Amino acid sequence: MERRTFLASLSAAAVASQVPLKAVDGPAAGRITLLHTNDTHSRIEPFGPGNGAISGKGGMARRATLVKQLRSQLDSVLLLDAGDTFQGTPYFNRYKGRLDYQLMRMIGYDATTLGNHDFDNGVGMLIEAIESMEQLKHRNPPFAFLNCNFDCKGAPALGTRLRPYLVREFPGVRVGITGVGVAFAGLVAPKNHEGITWKDPYESLKPVVKRLREIEKVDLVVVLSHLGYDNRDGAYDDLRLPGQVAGIDAVIGGHSHTFLDAPVKVKQALGETLVFQVGFGGVNLGRMDFALARGAVKAASGAAMPVVG
Ligand SMILES: [Zn+2]
Repeated sequence: MERRTFLASLSAAAVASQVPLKAVDGPAAGRITLLHTNDTHSRIEPFGPGNGAISGKGGMARRATLVKQLRSQLDSVLLLDAGDTFQGTPYFNRYKGRLDYQLMRMIGYDATTLGNHDFDNGVGMLIEAIESMEQLKHRNPPFAFLNCNFDCKGAPALGTRLRPYLVREFPGVRVGITGVGVAFAGLVAPKNHEGITWKDPYESLKPVVKRLREIEKVDLVVVLSHLGYDNRDGAYDDLRLPGQVAGIDAVIGGHSHTFLDAPVKVKQALGETLVFQVGFGGVNLGRMDFALARGAVKAASGAAMPVVG
């Protein structure tokens, strides 16, 4: 489908969904909104002048305000991130990622995954940042770290903190979330991922998605992917993922810093997958809305929302 046609059909579906869903509202119908970021790269503050189109955008305080507004308007919300929280500003050099993760907890993130840059100071420093977030005294619970393609047998301290998936229950919608990371080769120095073996993300996802669908009985499967949007060399990426692993409803992407205005719909064996990514640096907040009835997606739409003052 042409992108323009797809976008038009998305907004039509979103409008149309308002009417029939009212009729089927009840225990078997539900809605869920996914809010998401990727590659925030220690951008605690908004971008300053001289940054072209992104000048004056972003900032974690503004992101917090936007998320709070949306949560007050919507019943069922998940706030997710696709990795590469670390590296990019003096805040990272000073606080080694502890500040980023602590602020993410204060904003109310539910889960993230790990990108290559999250290993920039090695596994030990990554664990210290995770622990500082977990130990923070705050009303929001610690958020989850999701990944199913890192074999952490040689790094149990990280392995115990990485979960293959998370299941969250909302009225009328049971959501399963998992995550995959990009290959370390050429991106992460061997000493910085000591004890961790990267595995094929498609093959790692297949049993997890199957388990989420068949055993955990989720209605919606979400993948936090740090693979990149469109790797033209044929390597693993978000556009190819739905065709390789059936049964994924949403891919929240990262790594390639791709600015999309709205999710792209990709056909797969069991229907369609919304693939989305919102640039980098917290410039935009992604939003995807799903309306479900009797465990099936009836309408889906989304958009990137600029994070501005
Ligand atoms: Zn990356």
